[in-house]
Amino acid sequence: MMVASAPNPQHRCPKCDAPLSAVLRHCPTCAFDVGAPNVRACRTDENLKALAARYDSSRARANASGCLKEFDAFSTLIEKQSGVVVAMTAAIARSLFDYPKQLYANYEQLVGARIRKPADPEHDRHRCAVGGVLFGSYAGSIYYGTLSLTGIGLPTYGVVHCRLRSVTIDKRTSFLETNSYKFVTDHSVVPGTSLPPGFMACWEQRHALVLAKLGDRLSVGQTESEWEAILVHSDDKDRGNDDFVEAHIYESFDRNAVEAMVLSTKRKLSKAETIDFDVAIHEFNRLKGKTR
Ligand SMILES: [Zn+2]
Repeated sequence: MMVASAPNPQHRCPKCDAPLSAVLRHCPTCAFDVGAPNVRACRTDENLKALAARYDSSRARANASGCLKEFDAFSTLIEKQSGVVVAMTAAIARSLFDYPKQLYANYEQLVGARIRKPADPEHDRHRCAVGGVLFGSYAGSIYYGTLSLTGIGLPTYGVVHCRLRSVTIDKRTSFLETNSYKFVTDHSVVPGTSLPPGFMACWEQRHALVLAKLGDRLSVGQTESEWEAILVHSDDKDRGNDDFVEAHIYESFDRNAVEAMVLSTKRKLSKAETIDFDVAIHEFNRLKGKTR
């Protein structure tokens, strides 16, 4: 696979030539917007080359097992049709759609602003540690989603699934091959170690990441729905059993970023959830009828 050259992705400002920080979005000298740091981290030569090598190796194995047609079709499908789905509770969906000025908030911001209580101490420490080793000081600016071919994400994170308009996130979203908790464990990423290259991708390379991961799970004659099932897997109960490609969106979004909203769960909704979803979907449909 050819890789786009990535001249100077994070070392010097293209406007004023001052040294850049890999964890800042703006040049500390002239404030020029140099792009989301999570995306720039994916565009280093080291990551692009490692990802291309993994993709090429996966494609060669698919060819050897007679699945080249499926490999290329799945790759094209991801490139053309995949997007990011954020799952949220019905109450959060309601507040996002009911109040025009509402921004979607992540865990770090809600806890930091004392709007919500932290998770239990063990989970809170785990969460902060995983965000810290992956992103450092900008971990609080990352919003998590799932790469999907449909409008369905992970029910273990909420019953309302919102697919975001690609144009609103494509320049600030990167992808990690698995759930970040699983990733840091599987790759023994601890404070002081570097992240292994080739397991994350910017928007334009997301098909390479998916096929590097899932190429060995293709078989002759598979359908699109079978590919979606291996791209996003959940038992609707335990997050530890989820298997997916994790999306990292830099900074927040509002309701205008949502292009589709659906309910997705196997369990029965509570009365409050039903009311909250009704309000959210009513407002979503009303907005959809208007020019954004
Ligand atoms: Zn500058």
